[in-house]
Amino acid sequence: KLAATELEIQQLQAKYEEINADEIKIFKHFPLSQKTQKALAEFKYTNPTPVQRESIGPALLGKDVLGAAVTGSGKTLAFLIPVLEHLFINKWSRSDGVGAIIISPTRELAYQIFETLKKVGKHHDFSAGLIIGGKNLKFERTRMDQCNILICTPGRLLQHMDENPLFNTSSMEMLVLDEADRCLDMGFQKTLNSIIENFPPDRQTLLFSATQTNTVQDLARLNLKDPVYVGYGNGE
Ligand code: ADP
Ligand code: MG
Repeated sequence: KLAATELEIQQLQAKYEEINADEIKIFKHFPLSQKTQKALAEFKYTNPTPVQRESIGPALLGKDVLGAAVTGSGKTLAFLIPVLEHLFINKWSRSDGVGAIIISPTRELAYQIFETLKKVGKHHDFSAGLIIGGKNLKFERTRMDQCNILICTPGRLLQHMDENPLFNTSSMEMLVLDEADRCLDMGFQKTLNSIIENFPPDRQTLLFSATQTNTVQDLARLNLKDPVYVGYGNGE
């Protein structure tokens, strides 16, 4: 079984360079793990939306992505699929700690991401935690340092960074900022800057928002390495 997984990983990685968004009509055209493909099919995700078609390829290649697409355009899967594939390709296991952190401006949105992750990640073995504070104790059932994927609101994440000595983000390889513009609008900019200071600098970063804004571009300038712009029109 291990050898089969190793072979699958090699075959997937060999196809990453060849991904051409224009030729992707269905998810099956993407070189995604069987575990992800199976879940996508089960939940009737057949055709990628435009933002998914354009973002997933560069994200699989390890590039930073800055994506803008209106509400309802499918941004969640545009980042969750690359997160799952990154951990799969790198043979992440529960004992490897936090591999990806997803930041969302509100508890409700974080919860929705968590629910989508439960679907698309159904056949993977990764552990995930929801860190949103308030009355929601779900994440506390799993210790944070044993979570491979964390979905957080900014304030609660920073609180854990400051107060929880067991919480270690040094293994973190992917950062996702969902609704990046809203995070900043809501006055989280300082919090985000403090959070980002705690992260390893050589991570991959995916930023998604509903609008193209200067604040997102500012954030990108600060933290993204030669990002691929999706949904920003031509001539970037
Ligand atoms: P956004 O974050 O851009 O507002 P979401 O990721 O929340 O959008 O997705 C909006 C809705 O579209 C959700 O109900 C989701 O299940 C659905 N959806 C996302 N991607 C697809 C797809 N490829 N095919 C069908 N439905 C999709
Ligand atoms: Mg969204």
